Amino acid sequence: MQSREHVKLLPFLSAFCWMLAGCEPTANRVDSPSSSSAATAIVGATLIDGTGAAPVEDAVVIIDGTEIAAVGARGDVPIPEGASTVDVGGKWLVPGLMDAHVHFMESGRIYTKPGQIDLTHLVPYDEEVAWMQQRVPVTLRSYLCAGVTGAVSVGGPRFEYEVREKARARADAPDVYVAHGPVTLVPAEMLFPPFDGDTSVRSVTDPASAAETIRQGAEWNADLVKTGYLGGPFADYEKDYAAVHEAIIAESAAHGLKVTTHVTALEQARTLIELGVDSLQHLPLNAPLDAAFLELAKSKGIVAVPTLAVWQRNFIDIYKPDIELLDIERECGDPQVIASWHEAGELPSPPQVALEMYGAGAAMAAANTRLLHEAGVPLAAGSDTGNLGLLHGPSLHYELKLMGEAGVPTTDLIVAATLNAARIAGQEHRVGSIEAGKQADLLVLDADPLADIGNLQAIKAVVKSGVFFDQEALLPSAE
Ligand SMILES: [Zn+2]
Repeated sequence: MQSREHVKLLPFLSAFCWMLAGCEPTANRVDSPSSSSAATAIVGATLIDGTGAAPVEDAVVIIDGTEIAAVGARGDVPIPEGASTVDVGGKWLVPGLMDAHVHFMESGRIYTKPGQIDLTHLVPYDEEVAWMQQRVPVTLRSYLCAGVTGAVSVGGPRFEYEVREKARARADAPDVYVAHGPVTLVPAEMLFPPFDGDTSVRSVTDPASAAETIRQGAEWNADLVKTGYLGGPFADYEKDYAAVHEAIIAESAAHGLKVTTHVTALEQARTLIELGVDSLQHLPLNAPLDAAFLELAKSKGIVAVPTLAVWQRNFIDIYKPDIELLDIERECGDPQVIASWHEAGELPSPPQVALEMYGAGAAMAAANTRLLHEAGVPLAAGSDTGNLGLLHGPSLHYELKLMGEAGVPTTDLIVAATLNAARIAGQEHRVGSIEAGKQADLLVLDADPLADIGNLQAIKAVVKSGVFFDQEALLPSAE
């Protein structure tokens, strides 16, 4: 366990009273985190529970310890005797958000992807790795600042598992779920630089070695499995990908692990769905999704994570003199990451192959997001944060903005950033919605996110595993 002395654990009710006008100080019977096991009733807000159900006005949410004990309209839910009451009349409650696609092995700093922008003459890659390692506490707190109480790491070196452990030791951190992988037939050295003696990629050669790496992931207590990198310039390696994926999917199922997969091309995506993967990371950039594809995805129960933000920020905006950030990105993003974007002066042009593959694909990805939504295929929000121009934590809000502009209504955006994101990691039974029996992860908002998804940024307070934080205390400037 890490010392909690620098964790801004707020005395729960006094913090609330401090920020909520009209709160009676005499009602503050819980005044220290050690009392947090007593039941607490949050009353009076409009509840949006994350399932897509209609909002409940004047709701009551009972929190007992780390869990939600009961939820409903006032009058329908008895308030336990001795419970502390927090009146949040005029506010909105939503579940804590979850980002379904992040990489802790990438910092978002300009030095973090030497394969794309090589500034190793300014900051050698091992220095960047050391920076990421010592920066983990700030990185994790940025998530909570932005209301993101869960993050799915979709592959990387052992470092991703270490971040999960560090997150578990802190109150001011999201739950981190780690995908083993990406498992791929591409030799590791072709995709990523080595990372502290480890590699990002679980490179396999045949079904037997694929099953073996899944067993290794299960031993490391992976939360899910990620596969990836089919087609394009790597096609030579992939003649066995169907057999390899069958082995991965069977072995993962034997360990109760969901399989998510990286796709950017239509036919590979179709094949992978037929083979039995559970979810898609990114979307085909090369063609519009056809009716048969949409029907297949729907019938197989696929959840799709469009990752629209990465195409715009990592391949287009980062090369501009300034990136237009959302307010919450400026507030909750790591200031050292943002500052790094201006440290290297004018950047070399992006590789032509990257521009062709991704830059022009952004519009196609947005159109395909809309097609999936209209066909009733569930969407989950994932920012691909850690890539250039993206900020761990708050950039999930930028992804939601882009998904909204692609045609996804606010109700579905909220589900995408909560319950459906939890489904990617197979965690929907314990997080992702405000329902009895679930972990008490929720946000108090000053404005209605159903009216405008940007109002998800109007965060007054964050509750993570039953611990209450005033959002202001989570700002990097409050460190
Ligand atoms: Zn990614």
